[in-house]
Amino acid sequence: AKEAGGSAYRFFESEMDLRLQERRRLERDLRHAVNNDQLELHYQPLVDCAHLTVTGCEALLRWHHPERGPISPCTFIPLAEECGLIMQLGEWVLRTACRETASWPDDKIVAVNLSPIQFRQSDLADQILGILAETGLAPHRLELEITEGVLIEDTERVLATLKALKAHGIRISLDDFGTGYSSLSYLHRFPFDKIKIDRSFIWAMEENSDSMSIVRAVIALGRSLRITVTAEGVETPTQLAWLQAEDCDQAQGYLLGKPMSRADIATLWANAQGR
Ligand code: C2E
Ligand code: CA
Ligand code: CA
Ligand code: CA
Repeated sequence: AKEAGGSAYRFFESEMDLRLQERRRLERDLRHAVNNDQLELHYQPLVDCAHLTVTGCEALLRWHHPERGPISPCTFIPLAEECGLIMQLGEWVLRTACRETASWPDDKIVAVNLSPIQFRQSDLADQILGILAETGLAPHRLELEITEGVLIEDTERVLATLKALKAHGIRISLDDFGTGYSSLSYLHRFPFDKIKIDRSFIWAMEENSDSMSIVRAVIALGRSLRITVTAEGVETPTQLAWLQAEDCDQAQGYLLGKPMSRADIATLWANAQGR
């Protein structure tokens, strides 16, 4: 019995080693990818519910690993956050998104995801304003998506950064609303221009009347606070019709457009022009 326990332990130990090695390897490859331009942004349409027009897109990071193929941001973003690489990665995303968007029609905006960790840089606002100046993208065309995770960072610093950015006309959006630490007091303390209702609520709406009530309540809340409300993960015509009936401002999801390459987005704009 003693021996069996021992080998189970050794097995466990080598499993741990493997996982650690695996992480280190992925970390090293990601660092290489950032430095060698092996990353790409895809863009997913943000659609006005009432008119079904595309108001802009959310930039979503894509990594095609040379041997392993595509790796999900849900895997590598947390890794980048843990090893500190997120600062460099986040800056690359901002610069690339602003540069690529600058050549879009000038009524189209871009939404960029920011990791809570990026707010630990005291010069984040200056970095973003510098990138706008450098790329020539007008500040009102940039929207920053932050998650509720940012609320456990240094609140005063986060608030100062957001206020500085807003003073220049950049919009701030609260992502994945309803999944984290959301508290109504944050909506009041933080200068959000938009709330994105997490897709889990949209998916549950059809079977679960509680989810429907929650979505309806968030739409009403947004209206009374004059904050734009976006529904994420819209996949079915039924979901869209319901959101339209409830006067939800915007929708995003596979039904309205999947994340697309920069070239496909350019084609989308070219086709829309003729309408
Ligand atoms: P998110 O910010 O909530 O982004 C929306 C995610 O939902 C994207 O996944 C998008 O492809 C997916 N999605 C959109 N509509 C639908 C739909 O109708 N059905 C389904 N099943 N999925 C839909 P993606 O691109 O895999 O990104 C996952 C997460 O990774 C993002 O969630 C975001 O948290 C993070 N992420 C992606 N790019 C970046 C980035 O540049 N910076 C940071 N910090 N995080 C990023
Ligand atoms: Ca987002
Ligand atoms: Ca989201
Ligand atoms: Ca998310």
